[in-house]
Formats: sequence, C-alpha cells, structure tokens
Amino acid sequence: MSDKKYIVGVDLGGTKLSTVIINKSGEILARANVPTDAQKGPDAVIQKIKDTIHQVMDEVGATVDDLEGIGIGSPGPLDAETGVIKFTPNLPGWINIPLKDKVQEEFNVPIKVDNDANAAAVGEGTFGAGKGVKNFVYITVSTGIGGGAFIEGKLFHGENSNGAELGHTTIDMHGPQCGCGNYGCWEALASGTAFTKFAIDGLKHGRRKSLILDMVNGDLEKIDAKIVFDAARKGDEYALEMVEREAELLGVGISNIINNFNPRRIIIGGGMSNDLDMMYDRIMKEIDKRALKANAEVVEIVRAKLGKDAGVLGAAALILNQ
Ligand SMILES: [Zn+2]
Repeated sequence: MSDKKYIVGVDLGGTKLSTVIINKSGEILARANVPTDAQKGPDAVIQKIKDTIHQVMDEVGATVDDLEGIGIGSPGPLDAETGVIKFTPNLPGWINIPLKDKVQEEFNVPIKVDNDANAAAVGEGTFGAGKGVKNFVYITVSTGIGGGAFIEGKLFHGENSNGAELGHTTIDMHGPQCGCGNYGCWEALASGTAFTKFAIDGLKHGRRKSLILDMVNGDLEKIDAKIVFDAARKGDEYALEMVEREAELLGVGISNIINNFNPRRIIIGGGMSNDLDMMYDRIMKEIDKRALKANAEVVEIVRAKLGKDAGVLGAAALILNQ
C-alpha cells in the first residue's frame, strides 16, 4: 500500500449525506453530516458531495496528494465497475448518473462506488465483525433488508453488481407484495418496516390489550420497532409474540443463507440488530431446524460492530479492499 495517509468515505442516503476522512486504521479524523436535499436533483447532490469532501479534507489539512482514494456508498441498483447509478427510488432524477466520473472531475484520485449494503459489508470485513474471516455474509435489517457476501475473502458482486440481494429471496410465495414487485420476499416479511406494520395491524384488528397501546396513548401511528421491543422487554405478551415471529422469520432467511453460502459468520447490522439479544435463541432454534447440519456447525451469528458509522467506514474501506 502507498504512503498516502488518508481515505475519504461518503455515505449517500435518501435523506442524509455523511462524509468522513479516516486514517488507515479506520480512525475517523473529521466528519461532515448534511441533509441530502435529494429533491434538488443529482447535480445539486453531487455538488454537496464535493463540498463535504473539501470540508473534511480542510479540517485535517489534507490535499488531494494525501488521499489514497474516495469510497462512496450509494443506494442501488448501480454498476460498481463504472460507478454509474442506474436508478434509485430514494434519489429522484438519478437515472444513469455517472457518479464516479463526476466526483473524479474534482478529485483526481481512485474512486470506488458500491451499494450501501456492500459497503457496510466491506466495512465490517475491514474494521469490524468480519475482520480476518474469509467467508462471511453481512445483512442489514432496517427499513429494508440488504446484504453483502464475502466469498473466499472477496466481496461477491455477480454479473452486473446486483448479487446477494438477500432481502429479495422468496420466503412465502403467497406472502405480501414487496417494493420490488415480487410477493413474499424476506424484506416484505421481516424488515423493520414489516415488523412494525404487522404489530400495528394486529392492534387495529382485534388485539385490544397490550402495553404498546399504553406506551403510545392509543395512537397507533406512534408505534415503531423500538416501542415493540421495549414492551416485549417489560413482558408484554403481544409484543413478545411479535418479537418471536420476527425472530422466526429472520431464522428462516438466515438458514437459507447458511445453506447457500456456507459462511463462517453471519453479521447482522441495521436498526433491528439493536435487539438481537432478544431474538438470538429463537433464530438459533430455527437454524437448528432448517439449515444443513454440516453448514450450521461452522457458522456464528453475531451483531455488526460498526454501528452508526458502518456506512461511512464501509465506503472508505472500499478503497482498502480493491
Ligand atoms: Zn422483493
């Protein structure tokens, strides 16, 4: 590796844009967090990306010559090879936008663009729970379910960068419709969004008694995943049922991953991983029931380590993982 000191990581989200500059040990030296203002269109957002990169560089006194590269995690689908964002529902107007080239116009250093879940997987592999592990699968369970797979020490991309879209594996062929158009995807059943919706639906249709209702003063709109888990921790029967169902659904999807990839480790990130302790035993029970024994024997299920910084550290790690 070169003697260049710094790497920049950019986490481009539909609502927030976060940029950091790190050293090669993964220490964040400066950061910039701004609203994406996605409705202003691609040119304005790309200008913001450039501005935040300048901002973190200025903060540590770095010049372009000090940069090993710039990594960018973005919502997909995108082409990781060319750095072109093909289309993304979270960023209006982004159709075939050559993000990599546009940023390179300003900073003439190596630039890598990858989807946010892949970037987070690379981050965990470089600095977090996947460090030193050759075969691991990262999943993020939050608004949706995303995934990234490390196979034989390398991030798996597939033919056109859309591999390991684990959230869109079918779990129930007659299940609810997913944002992707298919029915019964893992994401449509087990994402944080699906978890909350299912809990609310149960209270709308029949269930009258739950601590959850007291916690939101009867206002179902106020229910989120955290409230359901909090109620479950207090022993609320309905909330415990919801958590049990979620853990079962996660266990089913994870069993598929275990059989498909034969990983050493499965790393769970995203907001829903905050309460992994409450679901762990039920997930393991499901794996025991469904996964192939030889595969199940070698796998560990662990929580992601990078937490809130997974996006930016993962983006920067794209540069280290070439
Ligand atoms: Zn889907």
